[in-house]
Amino acid sequence: MKFLSSLKNKNLSGRICLLRVDLNVKDSELNKNNLRVRAVLPTIKFLTEKGARVVILSHRGRPKPAKRADSEFRIQNLEFSLKPLAGILSRLLKKPVNFISLKELSTPKSAKEKISNSIKGSVFLAENLRFLPGEEKNDKKIAKQLASLGDFYVNDAFAVSHRANASVEAITKFLPSYAGLLMKKEIENLGKVMKAAKKPFVIILGGAKISDKLGIIKNFKKNADKFLIGGGVANTFLVAEGLPIGDSIFEEKMIPEAKKLLKLPPSTRSGQAKIILPVDYAMEKGKILDIGPETAKRYAEIIKKAKTIIWNGPMGYFENPKFAQGSKAVTEAILRSKAFAVIGGGETTSLFLNSKSKILNSKIFISTGGGAMLEYLGGKKLPGIEALRR
Ligand code: ADP
Ligand code: MG
Repeated sequence: MKFLSSLKNKNLSGRICLLRVDLNVKDSELNKNNLRVRAVLPTIKFLTEKGARVVILSHRGRPKPAKRADSEFRIQNLEFSLKPLAGILSRLLKKPVNFISLKELSTPKSAKEKISNSIKGSVFLAENLRFLPGEEKNDKKIAKQLASLGDFYVNDAFAVSHRANASVEAITKFLPSYAGLLMKKEIENLGKVMKAAKKPFVIILGGAKISDKLGIIKNFKKNADKFLIGGGVANTFLVAEGLPIGDSIFEEKMIPEAKKLLKLPPSTRSGQAKIILPVDYAMEKGKILDIGPETAKRYAEIIKKAKTIIWNGPMGYFENPKFAQGSKAVTEAILRSKAFAVIGGGETTSLFLNSKSKILNSKIFISTGGGAMLEYLGGKKLPGIEALRR
């Protein structure tokens, strides 16, 4: 794999870089200090400081592709437009960010002219790629059309690399392609837990659905010492154990799988069970909505002794502060621990970053990949990363 960082001493003056990033930010999150937006700034600066013209490519939300790139389509899809991100990036980069509309994007010759005529170090942001028919189908024609806009391609969108999309996969067939600075950080840090996790190795899993997390459990069932389970994931295990959970959320179809996992041989280090379930809960109206204080205490004790941690998925319905205590206890235990910790998932990272606790542990890596991180840690090959390896 070629890394952008290897071009550190190369002159990129006037070269046009197509930079695929993930700026998939909801309207309600636009004015917040967004992890995904901040995380791509170093790559943009790296490129512009070397004089490259940068054309930022991203998707936003799940719009239907345009039949025609006309203004009516634009108005119907305002919520998916990337236009607001141009202003946000411009403020953060302290320089103008020119917007490339869908119409311009669909007529690459004129877009190319506009880019080529800009001053060196200029930054452009193209409209939502998912407006283009073919982007999500990994269409070669669209990839080639995009590729015609630039001289080289950089993938810094780890969070989208589990999707074989034209701007992620097929485009690498048409341009010299590099992994960006953020992509490199993701691969290096996730690689640490994949290959050389120091023991005790503790994996904390919560959130809504066990089916999302199954890959991680399976991939680490030998290597991890303990899985601390919370959230809706715990409920499915509790049902598998034959325990009542009232009206709590759980996944019926995953019960057989959960039963199998509960029989995992104990950790050779401690001789104790691998899958650890809550022993008490916070409830409302017959629903388990958080782990209870005794569970939080036990989990914190285990986290304290860990040398490697992965955390994905909140311990409860944390959006209501009443049920955020379990996730708060886990956050604080990780911050106090000396372990190398990888934290990922949309909700998990936002709750972690918004916690008011002071960061004491500097060995924490916050991944920008939600689904991509789960697949990567689940041992799957991601099409966007494989394309860079070719
Ligand atoms: P992430 O985005 O970090 O990967 P998930 O999407 O898997 O996390 O799950 C997050 C959601 O799970 C949150 O919206 C949270 O409210 C919900 N959740 C966690 N525990 C429970 C529970 N016991 N009951 C209902 N919802 C829960
Ligand atoms: Mg989520």
